[in-house]
Order: sequence, then structure tokens, then C-alpha cells
Amino acid sequence: MSAPTQPDIAIGSNSTSASFASDAVENPAIAVENIVKRYGAFEAVKGVSFSVADGEIFGLLGPNGAGKSTLIRMMTTLVPITSGKATVAGFDVAKDPDAVRRKIGVIPQALTSDPDLTVEENLNIYAKLYSVPRAEREKNVAEVLEAVDLVKWRGAPVKTLSGGMRRRVEIARGLVHNPHIFFLDEPTTGLDPVSRIAVWEMLDKLRKTRNLTMLLTTHYMEEADKLCDRIAIVDHGKLVALGTPLQLKQNVPGANVVEVHFDRETEQWKARLEKLEGVTSVQSESAGFYRVLTSSGSKTTMQLVELAASLGETLTSLSVQNTTLDDVFVHYTGRQLRDEQVKASMASWAMLKRPGDPQ
Ligand code: ADP
Repeated sequence: MSAPTQPDIAIGSNSTSASFASDAVENPAIAVENIVKRYGAFEAVKGVSFSVADGEIFGLLGPNGAGKSTLIRMMTTLVPITSGKATVAGFDVAKDPDAVRRKIGVIPQALTSDPDLTVEENLNIYAKLYSVPRAEREKNVAEVLEAVDLVKWRGAPVKTLSGGMRRRVEIARGLVHNPHIFFLDEPTTGLDPVSRIAVWEMLDKLRKTRNLTMLLTTHYMEEADKLCDRIAIVDHGKLVALGTPLQLKQNVPGANVVEVHFDRETEQWKARLEKLEGVTSVQSESAGFYRVLTSSGSKTTMQLVELAASLGETLTSLSVQNTTLDDVFVHYTGRQLRDEQVKASMASWAMLKRPGDPQ
């Protein structure tokens, strides 16, 4: 991993723009300096600064409407930058957009491959669009098909593929001209959990084997946590925190979370757990499964193991975690990212309601 080693660089929520200097990396693949996007009087991005090291997977994490896609669109030359500066692969996005486009692959949120064409036809069209010389085209297409594990499906019309496979076609298409920097807008939205993990694994492998730098947007905390070397948390057009997942979580004062699964449920477990040292709350997630918040994960865990042994009870799993990225989001914004996700899906459902539907 080539993420820069640096002290915790999470920043306060009331800063109007993140400190560019504090995040400086040598020869960054991407550098964004006090970038602003205005649509009329509305400021969608309000002065954001960060830089991404070569070979890094960098995540923009935030709720819907935070400004993540707008940031990606500016960096990938799709919408003009109102003010500030973005440099990608050493080229100024505003001054040299063609040079930037040659260096980058972009995977938009929507699936844009042609469903009636085969996987291979879709890839060939893109290779031609990017002026990949004929001699290299066949080799590149074969390589990316291999990289995304779709060799067997090269002749299949895209419309016959599953959601996860279609996402892999999109990723292959974005790689067919051998870009150095890969931008992915919500790469796993709409995928089931198994396909989502498969995409994470694939992106991580691609980063290593193809020497790619990746910038992705996501509103999934788990995705940012598992996949990204560093994360910038974006809210209401501002960058509110930046760091490795661990740095961000360590920055939140307080609790560890101990998750414990007992072999069998007994009524006394909740009360017993509440008495252990450091425990501030105990939630019962399902039969025999408890989530214990504590100010001291290690002490609570040791006492818990001793208690179970003395009672002859079996633990089927036990994990101690630092706080989650949701706790980080609450710390910096006062709101839960999970709540925001629920609100967004409720809003989508409301939009789907037809006149005359019961309230
Ligand atoms: P995210 O990707 O984090 O969900 P977006 O970048 O899509 O957020 O949007 C950020 C804000 O900018 C939202 O309030 C959105 O409504 C607004 N916005 C995005 N595109 C436009 C546009 N073309 N015109 C006006 N407002 C826009």
C-alpha cells in the first residue's frame, strides 16, 4: 500500500475548507485544491482540498447529496470547476482536459454498456473510442476480460448477465485503454452483498496487478472501511474529516464495540454482560448475539471469557472493534450515516408513489 504515512489528519467539522498542506503527498496522482462547484446560487462543493498518492485507493464517503459525484465530475473533466484547482496525473484539469482524459478511466454510477451487444463488442467499441491501435486492441480486451474474470462470457449479450457481472463489464470497459487512474462513482450500488464483496476483491486485485490509483465515491461505510487506504468524509459539499479508516475511528473518543455470540441463549446474559468492567450498554441483536459498548474492550473481553469459562458456556464468536465509520460520521456531523441512508431510500420510495396510492 502506498498511502502516505502521516499523523491523524482528521479535521474539524467547522472548517470551511480542509487544509491542503496537511494532506500533501509527494507527486500525487490527484490533487484538488480549494475546489468549488456552483450551480446558479447553489454551492454543491464548497472549497474541498485533498491529494491522492500514486497506487492508493481513496474513498469519498458521504450521504446522498453530499457532493461526491460533483467532485468526481469535476476531476474527470465532465463539468467545469467554478473555482479552485484540480490536477490529475500531473495535468491541470481545466487547462489540459484531453491529457487528463487519456490518463483516466471513469466508471459512472449508471450502467452504460449496451445491453444488446456482447461483452466483447462493448469492450471493442470503447477501445476504438479511446483510439487504442488495432494491434493492441485484441490484446487489451483479452487482458481486461481475464482481469475481471469474464473470459467465458465474452460472447454473451450484456443483457443476459447478472448485476454483478454487468458491473464487471463496466469496470473492464474503463480499463481497456490502460488508464493510470481510475474513478468509480458508487461502484457497488444496487449489488447484493455477495457481488459487492466480489467487486471489492476485484478492485483491490486490479489496483495491485495493473498499478492503478483509484478514487471512488460511496455511501456504504463498509465499502470505505474494507476497500480504501484513506477516506475523505464529505457532507453538505464540505470535507469534514480525512484519514485512514483506523485514524478516523481512533479519533472518536470513547467506545470499543465487543460483539459476542454464545452457543445458547440464556436469559441472564444481558444482565451479566452489563456488570462487566467498562460496559456502558448492551444490545441484544438476536438470540445469543450481543453488541456490547465499552470504554475498555480488552478488560471487558478478558472478564467475559473468564465468566463464560467459569459457567461452562461456549462462545461461538467474539470480536472487539474500534468504533465504526458511522461513529466517525456522528462525531463530525452530529448525524448518523445509516439514518441518512434510510432517509434517502424513503425519499426514493415516496417518489415512486403514484397519485391515488394510499398515504
Ligand atoms: P452525491 O454524489 O454525494 O450524492 P451530488 O454531487 O450528486 O451528491 O449532488 C450534490 C448536490 O448538488 C445535491 O444537492 C444535488 O441536488 C446538487 N446538484 C447536482 N447536480 C446538479 C445540477 N446539474 N444542477 C443543480 N444542482 C445539482
